[in-house]
Order: sequence, then structure tokens, then C-alpha cells
Amino acid sequence: MAHRLQIRLLTWDVKDTLLRLRQPVGEEYATKARAHGLEVEAATLGRAFRQAYRTQSHSFPNYGLSQGLTSRRWWLDVVSQTFHLAGVPDAQAVAPIAEQLYEDFCKPGTWQVLEGAEATLRGCRKRGLRLAVVSNFDQRLEGILRGLGLREHFDFVLTSEAAGWPKPDPRIFHEALRLARVDPAVAAHIGDSYHCDYKGSQAVGMRSFLVVGPEPLDPAVKGSIPQECLLPSLSHLLPALDRLQGSLLEL
Ligand SMILES: [Mg+2]
Repeated sequence: MAHRLQIRLLTWDVKDTLLRLRQPVGEEYATKARAHGLEVEAATLGRAFRQAYRTQSHSFPNYGLSQGLTSRRWWLDVVSQTFHLAGVPDAQAVAPIAEQLYEDFCKPGTWQVLEGAEATLRGCRKRGLRLAVVSNFDQRLEGILRGLGLREHFDFVLTSEAAGWPKPDPRIFHEALRLARVDPAVAAHIGDSYHCDYKGSQAVGMRSFLVVGPEPLDPAVKGSIPQECLLPSLSHLLPALDRLQGSLLEL
């Protein structure tokens, strides 16, 4: 006899899915530098940050935890590298700016809840769905979510720092499923990264929804995702879940 599989757990990415930075990183860095008497262009800092972040992530994956770093040290090094690449080699002048940025990035005021996020999370819970966070983030995430009033929606917040593996590593998704005690077939993940969120969660047998921004999707990516798994905004999630639910028949 056929019966319906009910989705029971939704796991969520955070950055650029539920929250975004109020200001571009370069602006944030330039403002803090100015407050410490250093004048550096925001665009230069933005470019330098992307390069420093890429290099640091490559050399020290997941905050370098397995190489003896802490996530705090990892971030302070990213800031110092950013300023170095932007033409400020004086590490001593940059140290207090790095401390300040580290503090400020965990303040709720640095972040903005994306449109529709709160209502969607509420709507999901109203349907009896359990919600959890699976995010490539450090330990500060819990406090950020609490400060923005979103923490209460989630059973747990699993960061890559706590799990020990970043998305798309299957182990972080397995850990979330273990914590929730649900089978991947009745869990779905929502995120904005094709590689980390969509492919990562699919690889462990979960359903996936990709939040897409206003920019056109890479045609190769678009071609590989069923239309009903693309979310032009978070308000598309509940109708998409209804369609998915309707199509899930277990024989
Ligand atoms: Mg994201």
C-alpha cells in the first residue's frame, strides 16, 4: 500500500538565506579603519577581503580547527591579511581594528533579516515542521540569531565549527540528521549555495531547495535543478513544500 512521506525536518543555511550583512564587507572594514585613524577605500578593502578569505579558507579549512587555530584567530588573521593586501602592512595598527571587527560582526545590528524570513519560519513551525540550522559559520552564530529574534524557531543550531566539517561535507548533514533523529528522506535543506547547500544536502539523500537571488543563474546550474526546487524568494517555500509533499509517495 502506498502512503505519503511527510517532510518532518527543515535545515537552514543562514548567510544570504535568512540574514545578510547590512553593509558590504568593504564598507564595514573601511568604517572601522576610519574610526582608528586609517583611511582605506571600501572597494579596495572589499576586493582584498575576498582574496584573503579565499586564501585563508584554502590554507586553513573550517577555521583551521584541525591545524590548531581557533575561529577567532582565523578571523583576526583574515582581517590582518585583508589590510595587508589593501596596502596597510602595519600589523600593529590593524590589530585593534581586527578586534573591533570581530566583536562587531556578532552584533545583531551588523545583520539584516531577509524579507519573508521570519514569516516563513513561523509558517513552517505552524505546520509542525521541525527546524534547525546547518551553517558554515563560527560559534558566534547562536548569539546573532538570538539577537535578531530568530533563535527560538530552531531546535538546534549546528555550525561547521561545532560539527568539525563545513558544508558540503556529508558529515555535517549526517550530524544534523542524527541530532534531529530523522531519516534523510523526510528532511529538506534550504540554502543559497548550489555547491554547499543544494548539492551537499542532496548527496546525503535529503530534499533540497535553492534560494536564488535577482542575478541570473548559471545556465548549467539552472539546467540541473528542477524548477520546483528553485525559490525566487522565501515566500515561495511553503507552496513548494506543498507540491513536494503531494508528490512524495512511498511504495
Ligand atoms: Mg549562504
